[in-house]
Amino acid sequence: MAFFILTSTLSIPLQAEAASSVQVKKLATGTKYETKLYVIKSGKPGPVVLIVGGVHGNETAGYKAALKVCNYRPTRGTLLVIPKANVLAIKAGERVARGQIDLNRAFPSTKSGAARGTLAKSILKIIKAYDVDWVMDMHEGYDYVKNPSSSSVGQSLIYYPSSSAKTIGSRIVNTINKNIGLNRKEFCLLKPPVKGSVCRAAAVTVGAKGFIFETCSRDSLSTRVNNQLKAANMLLGYLDMK
Ligand SMILES: [Zn+2]
Repeated sequence: MAFFILTSTLSIPLQAEAASSVQVKKLATGTKYETKLYVIKSGKPGPVVLIVGGVHGNETAGYKAALKVCNYRPTRGTLLVIPKANVLAIKAGERVARGQIDLNRAFPSTKSGAARGTLAKSILKIIKAYDVDWVMDMHEGYDYVKNPSSSSVGQSLIYYPSSSAKTIGSRIVNTINKNIGLNRKEFCLLKPPVKGSVCRAAAVTVGAKGFIFETCSRDSLSTRVNNQLKAANMLLGYLDMK
């Protein structure tokens, strides 16, 4: 006696499409660093993009723009958003809260390197767990142009590491600059992001591409938030997620 399994009569699709979903998770749970991570899944295969705001607490447009990105619903892939990465610094309204380390220097610059501190460790864990493909880190500077006498990088897009990051980076810069009349206010394309930044760490640990985007705090808040969102929208458009 033999049993035959008639697979041809089965009508269940081999790969049922996953449902889209939004989950709000917590990073550094139960600590003074606790902050939200939005996991926004389209339900369709595609890239994993991480958008981070509020690494520096006095760079308001970064976290205001990132909060708006939490309402985005990608058409494919997964969008991760950490809108207020450093809540202590944001509460203090400072680049770095007193007694804390600079979150923009706390991530490893080598594949096997460790992150410094609870907050950077928990963010790095997410980058690895989701195997992030692209990162946009929303920052601000206090000058329009790169100032050699200070640490300000001016209005800029600082990409890393590959030619594909440069392709979308230059497209973003060129598009935004078209709407800026004055040369001295134009965004410039720079590389690489500083060692210790989340962008650089994602590149060396999981091979992500990405950039730090810096608006100038002398512009109005709405202009700065708009520029951040334009850059985010262009990245998601480039990745066919919008
Ligand atoms: Zn910054």
